[in-house]
Amino acid sequence: MNSLELFNKAKEIIPGGVNSPVRAFKSVGLNPPFIQKGKGSKIYDVEGNEYIDYVCSWGPMVLGHLHPQVQKAVEDAVKDGLTFGAPTEREVEIAQLICDAVPSIEMVRLVSSGTEAVMSALRLAKGYTGRQYIVKFSGCYHGHTDSMLVKAGSGLLTAGIPDSNGVSSDTAGNTLIAEYNNIESVKILFEQFGEQIAAIIVEPIAGNMGVVNATREFLEYLREITTKNGSLLIFDEVISGFRASYGGAQALFGILPDLTTLGKIIGGGMPCGAYGGSKEIMSMIAPVGSVYQAGTLSGNPISTAAGIATLKVLKQDEKIYQRISQKADVLVDAYRTAAKKYGVDVVINQAGSVFTVFFTNHSVVDYQSALTSDTKLFAMYFKEMLSQGIYLAPSQFEAVFVSDALSEQDIQKTIDAIDQSFRVIAQ
Ligand SMILES: *Cc1c(COP(=O)(O)O)cnc(C)c1O
Repeated sequence: MNSLELFNKAKEIIPGGVNSPVRAFKSVGLNPPFIQKGKGSKIYDVEGNEYIDYVCSWGPMVLGHLHPQVQKAVEDAVKDGLTFGAPTEREVEIAQLICDAVPSIEMVRLVSSGTEAVMSALRLAKGYTGRQYIVKFSGCYHGHTDSMLVKAGSGLLTAGIPDSNGVSSDTAGNTLIAEYNNIESVKILFEQFGEQIAAIIVEPIAGNMGVVNATREFLEYLREITTKNGSLLIFDEVISGFRASYGGAQALFGILPDLTTLGKIIGGGMPCGAYGGSKEIMSMIAPVGSVYQAGTLSGNPISTAAGIATLKVLKQDEKIYQRISQKADVLVDAYRTAAKKYGVDVVINQAGSVFTVFFTNHSVVDYQSALTSDTKLFAMYFKEMLSQGIYLAPSQFEAVFVSDALSEQDIQKTIDAIDQSFRVIAQ
C-alpha cells in the first residue's frame, strides 16, 4: 500500500489515522507520508521518497537515525531479552550518566515517556509541599497529563480552563496560568496563591509554541519566587535535556531547579522518560517514601541500552554541541537571506540546534506573540519544502531539530529548497 492507501485504511481503525495528533498533517492540509526507514540524516517513505529529516522524531534522534553505536547497543541488548520487570545493570548505568550530567539531579527515577515524567514530578511536588496548585505558562507543553492540558483563560488570575474535553474542571482548576517571560504575571499569582503553590513548571527554553528563549531575568525570578514561597521549581527539559547542552538548559544558564523532567533524547529513540532532583525530595518516592509511582516497563532494557549509547556519544564527542549549533546557524542565515531577498516577513528564534521560523513581523517572546504568525503562509512553505525532500514539523508552532548526521550536502540542498520555497510563497 502507498501512503495514501495506508492513511485511508488507518483512519478507519486508528483515530485520525495516527497515534499522536500532529502526525496527521492536518494543520498544513496534507496527507502524511508513511515512513518506512531512516538512516543518518534521512528518512524514506513507503514510496521510496527520500527526505532530509528535521523532525528527528520530535527531538530524540540528535545523532541521526541508526547511529552505529546506538544500533549495536540495541542489537546486543535484544539478544538478552526484552523486559524482566526486575532491576537491571543498565538502569544503574544510565542513572549515573544522568546524575553526572544534569547539575540539579542527585537521584533519578526512570519512566516510559515525557508525559509520565511530568505527571510524576507534579505528584511529587504536591506530596513534598503538601500544596495543590501548579503554575504553568501559556504555550508551554508538558505532555498530556490532565492538569497540564490547560491554556490561559482570560486574565492573569483566571484559574485554568481545560483545553481538552474530558479534563475535569477540578483538575484544571489547580493549574494556574502565567505568561512566558512575564515576571508580573507570576508575581500576581504568588500574591494571591503563594502559600498554596506546590510548584512552577516551565520549559527553560520553550519549544512547543515554536522556539521561544526565556530571558535570564525571567528564569532567575522563577528561582527566587519559588524559594521565597517554599514552592518547587520544575524545569521540563524533555526537549532541552542533553540538547541545549550536555547538562541541559540548567547547565547553560547556571540556574538550578528543584526537579527536572527528561525524555526524548535520553531514550535514544526508544520510549523513556525520567524525573530527578535532590536526594531529599526524591526520597519521598515509593518504596522509600509516601508518593507512589510505578511502571511495568520503566527502565526497560532496550530503552536504557539505546539511551546509554546516545548519552555516551554525546559525552565523549565534546564538539558535538558546537557542531549542531553551527549547522543550525547556517540554516538560520539562509532563511534570513531568502526572507530578505523575496520580502517575506519572518522572525527566527534559535536556541543552539533548534529554531523556529515564525511567519510574522512581531518579535516572538510568548504565546500571544507566537500566535501572530501567518499559519496559511507556513502551510504553503511547508508544502514546498516537503515537495523538495525537506521533512519539517507540520506545524508553525514546533521546532526545526538539527541532528549531527546532517552533511554539508544536506545543508546545501536545504538552503536551495529554502530559496525556492520563499520564491514561491512570495508570489
Ligand atoms: C515532548 C514533550 C513532553 C511529553 O513527552 P512524551 O514523551 O511525548 O510524553 C513533555 N514536555 C515537553 C517539554 C515536551 O517537549
